[in-house]
Amino acid sequence: MDAAGRIEQGDLLVLDDRILAIGSDVAPILERLGPDAELRRFDARGALVLPGFVHGHMHLCQTLFRGAAEQSDLLLWLRERIWPLEMQHTPDSMAASVRLGLCELIAGGVTTINDMGTVHHTDVVAETLIDMGVRAVFGPALMDAGEGVPDGMLRPARAQLDDTLAIARRYDRAGDGRLHVSLAPRFILSCSEGLWHDVAAVSRERGMLIHTHIAEAPTEGAAVKGAVGVHATPYFEKHGVLSERFVGAHGVWLDEEEMGIMARADAALVHCPGSNMKLASGWADVAAWKRHGIRCGLGSDGAACNNRLDTFTEMGLAAGINRVKHRDDPMSARDVVALATCDGARALGLFREIGSLECGKQADIAVVDVSTPRCAPFGLDDPYTALVHGANSSDVTLTMCAGKVLYDWGDWKTMDPLAVVAESRREGLALLDRARAAGTLR
Ligand SMILES: [Zn+2]
Repeated sequence: MDAAGRIEQGDLLVLDDRILAIGSDVAPILERLGPDAELRRFDARGALVLPGFVHGHMHLCQTLFRGAAEQSDLLLWLRERIWPLEMQHTPDSMAASVRLGLCELIAGGVTTINDMGTVHHTDVVAETLIDMGVRAVFGPALMDAGEGVPDGMLRPARAQLDDTLAIARRYDRAGDGRLHVSLAPRFILSCSEGLWHDVAAVSRERGMLIHTHIAEAPTEGAAVKGAVGVHATPYFEKHGVLSERFVGAHGVWLDEEEMGIMARADAALVHCPGSNMKLASGWADVAAWKRHGIRCGLGSDGAACNNRLDTFTEMGLAAGINRVKHRDDPMSARDVVALATCDGARALGLFREIGSLECGKQADIAVVDVSTPRCAPFGLDDPYTALVHGANSSDVTLTMCAGKVLYDWGDWKTMDPLAVVAESRREGLALLDRARAAGTLR
């Protein structure tokens, strides 16, 4: 996934946390190191070695709500289930939720996650991300306004920004440099004008990413227009929120004018086709984003609205939706893989370090077996087609982040999947009980 689009057959050598050599450059280095060099070898014959997937939009705090929020409208889903459930998190349930999400993501080849938390327990999210070994951009959801929000969830803008800055002081570049703290105002209906203004100012001053939702659903769009008089994009533009540090999830309902605004600001978007279909939000037009020159990535969104956290599923959906919209000139399979790798890294401003396999870059790597019946007979001949239209996440055999193996042929190195699933059941049931007792679920 480098700029030249090279595909090499051969070895890849990792030293510490970086890629040291690829292809024909590997053998001379091994020779220099001599026969006594301590090497760990991973057999990737019949497999594709690719950059670890960059997951562009996630809520790890919602993994415990999978299957417990089945509305088909964004605002009802948020008000009837998601906010009441998020409000009942304890540190233990939050850790269980993050671990469960990461258990699935890591086994599916994901090495970088752009996460939006809830308003509490962000330190637990950070510690769990560090322990599980992944790379992440994350931050607490900022909310200081809105209808149908449970007590205790809305807090004054200044207090929330101070919390985020305290998290940033503690965790930015933590986990050997893998963690980045972002500003995560939830969406227009959850945030006052003053909060957007402050978020924009802090982002400018400190270079922090702004991660939010934009133009996701028709009901939300109508409510935004009713609340602030204009669509999301001109509103963000007016308040200085759009810049090269802006990452907006969904963008389903952006019109041509709004895409022009996004492009001129060099703002990025993240396509979440599975979530958009499950919440009946619509189909984003990624080809139009790309035509405008907007940087864009791919995500599944959280487990409460998808319900899979599976890059392969999202790549297949992204390709399918694009073909239906642009049957005469569809995106290539390589373009779709790019959304989940190099373009996703560009959307998060991390392409200098990750998103492609190049010497000197971070060793964030996924290995995908394409010698399976699902990908035969031409899996190795056309790797992009195999990844987008054939393979699935159970074909991932190795996931490495910053040179550390997180997953190797069914063996999770930073967690025990059976314990994670058992813990998620226990904590999920207790959380539902608390929510019922609070009387906030609808
Ligand atoms: Zn989301």
